Amino acid sequence: MPNRLLLRLAAQDGIRRLVTSAPPTRRVVKRFVAGETLADGMAAAASLNEHGMGAILDYLGENVATGEQADQAAGAYLASLAAIGRSRTDAHVSVKLTQLGLDLSFDAAVARLGEICAAATTARTRVAIDMEGHEYTDRTIEAYRIVRKEFAHPVLALQAYLKRTGADVAALAPLRPAIRLVKGAYNEPKDIAYGPWKTRDAFRRLLQPLLAQTPYTGVGTHDELMVQEAIRFAHRKEIPTDRFEFQMLYGVRRDLQEKLRAEGYGVRVYVPFGEAWYPYLMRRMAERPANLRLFLEAIARG
Ligand SMILES: Cc1cc2nc3c(=O)[nH]c(=O)nc-3n(C[C@H](O)[C@H](O)[C@H](O)COP(=O)(O)OP(=O)(O)OC[C@H]3O[C@@H](n4cnc5c(N)ncnc54)[C@H](O)[C@@H]3O)c2cc1C
Repeated sequence: MPNRLLLRLAAQDGIRRLVTSAPPTRRVVKRFVAGETLADGMAAAASLNEHGMGAILDYLGENVATGEQADQAAGAYLASLAAIGRSRTDAHVSVKLTQLGLDLSFDAAVARLGEICAAATTARTRVAIDMEGHEYTDRTIEAYRIVRKEFAHPVLALQAYLKRTGADVAALAPLRPAIRLVKGAYNEPKDIAYGPWKTRDAFRRLLQPLLAQTPYTGVGTHDELMVQEAIRFAHRKEIPTDRFEFQMLYGVRRDLQEKLRAEGYGVRVYVPFGEAWYPYLMRRMAERPANLRLFLEAIARG
């Protein structure tokens, strides 16, 4: 579970200004973000491909305030997919619905998502839909259901820390959905979300029907216990290794990424790029106190 206090502090304007204007921040950003341009994202994806891993390109941004910003974000995804198709890079893209204007209009956000899904079909790849804070869960699942009618490839991220997710997995089962299972990275109220231990139990519990019954599961974790659990279960049920892959974040547990690849498992790395890195970076800080220390030391060194 992410550190709730840090996520609350990070949302304050003063802290945001302080962090984004401090030059040493850039060094820490570089560890978790591939760069500011599509070329940076594509270069990171190409390098991962050279090392036998796939990529998930994420154009950073969320909660846009205008339709123009949502169109601009959708345009960035269309450009990413054109580049993926042209270069035949092994990469898909991952979008946030609030970046496509979900706060402004559900229908317009879904229309943009549909356009991105069509471009992914042309590029022979997939679109994944990130899961954001709980106030967006219902609308995100509904958007997934809508595009799933037309496209086979979309992937939906679901969060094990939400108590509702077991019911969501059961309700989605008839669609044979492609799911990326993650623990969850937002500051959620205790009445709807589990703490760290129960989240692990839930992750284990959810993983089993997904691996056994769906065509594609992204096991989105760096937690070695969860990774071993997935491997043991897949082995016991004779689930072929092309039905699942391990997905990890750029700059996190490269050793584990490499180890799994060497053992013959599919590994795909989530590669964020773009200028709007602040909320993404703060979620990475909140996941691990050691990251925060690294960051504060960089600022202290100046
Ligand atoms: C591919 C991918 C996509 C994701 N998409 C979403 C999404 O759509 N919605 C959402 O809410 N969340 C998403 N997340 C984030 C996820 O919910 C967790 O917050 C994050 O993965 C940390 O949980 P963990 O399972 O790795 O376990 P943890 O118990 O947090 O971490 C296990 C170990 O991994 C390492 N580690 C984990 N995080 C970090 C870090 N930030 N920096 C350095 N080391 C770290 C540490 O060694 C730690 O001990 C995604 C994660 C991945 C990998």
